[in-house]
Amino acid sequence: METKNIRQGLWAATAPSRPGLTSMKGDHKTDIAIIGGGYTGLSAALHLAKMGGKSIVLEANDIGHGGAGRNVGLVNAGLWLMPDELLRLAGPEYGEKLIDVLGDSPDLVFELIEEHGIECEALRNGTLHCADSKSGYKALRQREAQWLKRGAPVRFLERDEAASMTGSNSFCGALLDKRAGTIQPLAYAYGLARAALKAGAKMYNHSPVVGFEKTRDGWKLNTPAGTLTANRVIIAVHAYTSHAFKSNTKSMVKMNFFQFATQPLSKDILKTVLPQHQGAWDTNLILSSYRLDAEGRLIVGSVGTVKDFAYNLHANWVKRTILKTFPQVGEPSLEYGWHGRFAMNTNHIPRFHLPGKNMAMITSYNGRGIGPGTVFGKLLAEYAAGGPLENIPLPVTKIDPIHTRIFWGLFYETGARLYHFFQRRV
Ligand SMILES: Cc1cc2nc3c(=O)[nH]c(=O)nc-3n(C[C@H](O)[C@H](O)[C@H](O)COP(=O)(O)OP(=O)(O)OC[C@H]3O[C@@H](n4cnc5c(N)ncnc54)[C@H](O)[C@@H]3O)c2cc1C
Repeated sequence: METKNIRQGLWAATAPSRPGLTSMKGDHKTDIAIIGGGYTGLSAALHLAKMGGKSIVLEANDIGHGGAGRNVGLVNAGLWLMPDELLRLAGPEYGEKLIDVLGDSPDLVFELIEEHGIECEALRNGTLHCADSKSGYKALRQREAQWLKRGAPVRFLERDEAASMTGSNSFCGALLDKRAGTIQPLAYAYGLARAALKAGAKMYNHSPVVGFEKTRDGWKLNTPAGTLTANRVIIAVHAYTSHAFKSNTKSMVKMNFFQFATQPLSKDILKTVLPQHQGAWDTNLILSSYRLDAEGRLIVGSVGTVKDFAYNLHANWVKRTILKTFPQVGEPSLEYGWHGRFAMNTNHIPRFHLPGKNMAMITSYNGRGIGPGTVFGKLLAEYAAGGPLENIPLPVTKIDPIHTRIFWGLFYETGARLYHFFQRRV
């Protein structure tokens, strides 16, 4: 198999150069320490800098090492949950606010991209949620009705229109959401970091927070080669939580998702595969994602890791899937394969924690973190700068362990392997 299995696959190969950073050495002070250099931490740093606040980001690896550098790049509006379900679960106090804030989250992403000239293959021409079964068709119809009730620019496409928008006959309908779009996810993270640095934020890479202690006015964070004393702390470590925050993993189910990218398709074939370049995904429980990059590679993803023997198992499934879903592509040659993990929880609503005085954390975007991470980073910045707690549209909760997390993690990983081994063999 001629694939290059580098950590962040295609995204690392096609992103502009990484912002030049060093690791933290010696003792430092700042107003607000931000732990984690993904969308949440970087957006918090950028918005704090814009407000004139002093902050330092500590990243355990490189900027975008976590989900931010590995994801599909679908800038979705809202959560996985349908709006009515979200309202039912979150209750009237938070539900409507959360629906509004996250429904509008692509606006903030694309505004920041424009304002800071972030080069990240940004395209805002909608996404396509594709029905691959009768139940999927019904669910998308419901989703459409619930968003239309709230005035969102969504439109259900029946089979023929879905076929012409996707370039595939595999779907019995699709929901076009005009609020959404696609980006090169790692390039967006680099762009946020550059914009934050330019606005005055400081940032260190390879500086994991390995421990922290309370001081008279705030917190002292320890890294292997230095310390950072801050009045307030924002923890933005999400599913890549490590070192001092390892125990937080007990409060999430970690889900893995892989992607494979073909070599660039020919100009003629490109006219027939997602011809308007919308990103797409289906309604299957083991869902598949489909998108193109700026150079015309077709990128197909689904649940699972591409570790060890699973690499070829999933790569072969991707080849069969392309032959079935986009037969016009012919026998595909896969150029890159990679995977990443995201944090799920029991009711699919993000969690807001205050683990200590002047310490805040948001986690569990349940696979939708580009818009939510960018928006919650901004809201955490405003809160850390002295804004009211009520502006955060989530209740403060305790970090509670999910006792069945290992079962669910294994269930999805094993289920996806079995499914991909058997599916589309004939
Ligand atoms: C394969 C995949 C596909 C996805 N597809 C989409 C999609 O299409 N659309 C979408 O909206 N979302 C998608 N997501 C989800 C999205 O990528 C995440 O929700 C988002 O990246 C979360 O952002 P974050 O900043 O909170 O965390 P992350 O991006 O995970 O960043 C957390 C950072 O914290 C750092 N860190 C951890 N511990 C420490 C420590 N002790 N000290 C210092 N730093 C630390 C990590 O190294 C990491 O860089 C996907 C995720 C994956 C993995």
